[in-house]
Amino acid sequence: MRAVVVGAGIGGLTAALSLRRAGWDVTLVEQAARFTEVGAGIQLAPNATRVLRRLDVLDAVAAPAARPSHVSFRTWSDGAEICRYALGREAEEEFGAPYLLLHRADLHQALSAAVPSESVRLSTTVVDITQDDDSAQVTTATGERLGADLVVAADGIRSAARRWLFGEDEAVFSKTAAYRALLPVAEVADLGLPPLGVWLGPDRHFVHYWVRRGELLNVVAVFSTGAPAQESWTDRAEPGEQLREFAQWDPRVLSVLERAGQVLRYGIHTRTPLTRWNLGRVTLLGDSAHAMVPFQAQGAAQAILDAAALGDALTDTTPAEVPAALDRYVARRLPTATSTQAASTQAGRDFHLPDGPEATARNARMAAHAGENRFMPQSAAWGADR
Ligand SMILES: Cc1cc2nc3c(=O)[nH]c(=O)nc-3n(C[C@H](O)[C@H](O)[C@H](O)COP(=O)(O)OP(=O)(O)OC[C@H]3O[C@@H](n4cnc5c(N)ncnc54)[C@H](O)[C@@H]3O)c2cc1C
Repeated sequence: MRAVVVGAGIGGLTAALSLRRAGWDVTLVEQAARFTEVGAGIQLAPNATRVLRRLDVLDAVAAPAARPSHVSFRTWSDGAEICRYALGREAEEEFGAPYLLLHRADLHQALSAAVPSESVRLSTTVVDITQDDDSAQVTTATGERLGADLVVAADGIRSAARRWLFGEDEAVFSKTAAYRALLPVAEVADLGLPPLGVWLGPDRHFVHYWVRRGELLNVVAVFSTGAPAQESWTDRAEPGEQLREFAQWDPRVLSVLERAGQVLRYGIHTRTPLTRWNLGRVTLLGDSAHAMVPFQAQGAAQAILDAAALGDALTDTTPAEVPAALDRYVARRLPTATSTQAASTQAGRDFHLPDGPEATARNARMAAHAGENRFMPQSAAWGADR
């Protein structure tokens, strides 16, 4: 059974591992000349790390990670703690896998090291995917055609495969953008920040967490904006722009943003939910299927869950059974991924409430939840796919 996976992001790499484990011969095709990830952080909740353990990569992924004891939610103006939720050993015992904070490059490196190099084709851009009853064909920019029993399009938020399968449809600007930066933790040691902090304010929120064994601080400062912003991991903000956008915030937030120096600006986009991801023997996976706003830190986690479900559905299949197996994969994953998209959007609305009765009620709700249940409300979903 031969599969071509298009795109070696977090979704494509995990799909390659999962399909190999299910006995498939996998070719992973990536347009970039080498495996790369941007300098930014990523949180992995236990629903994702449990899958990585099954794929025998959790130790490699966890080695350079930071493990937060808790997340602290705070108010924007004075940093008063609204509540804290447990994420350390207690969460690991409850959900059967750790909550990890990673440099994206470290995660990518650990996943790519687990895929045999002979299965990978770098510098290979896919320009078309076609199929007939018996097989699918991937056409590359050099005109080469790769035949397969299965094609997995893990080609990210700007997926061309999604267009080839289901017609014109573009990524949608979420009317939020983020300043991003990474800086040495030693440079902010005097601020007494928690290992993972989320500060909530009108039309904005500010997230920071340790990565790379606690050596670096990842900073994401999200703001609402009507001005369309590029979905780019490399666009620079104007010097000092982040300080103007977050003026009036707690001095510790401003100190972090000031010490970060030159920050990057990222326009946050989503994909409209689809009613199906597969057609014949071709399927979408990860952001190509369900890109979401990152306000529950679940985008990559959902891609990792897709990969696990795909491997399960395609175990012990014959070529003729692939379309039906893809139906099973999509039936298992689409409802959860779609509801996670909606929950992430709703989290952004809650985070950005103006000061007033609604924000006060939100804070009271969060504090009450933390009192009754040590874990975040969204953790209810972390055990669901066990
Ligand atoms: C600011 C921000 C913070 C986030 N934080 C978190 C977090 O804390 N936790 C979390 O779980 N998620 C988070 N996410 C979401 C997460 O980053 C994405 O959901 C995840 O990276 C998607 O992975 P993917 O493999 O589907 O796509 P991508 O990582 O985009 O990979 C797609 C790959 O396909 C390749 N490709 C594209 N087209 C072609 C082609 N035609 N031929 C060959 N190759 C091609 C690309 O080069 C790329 O390597 C965050 C997102 C943002 C924007």
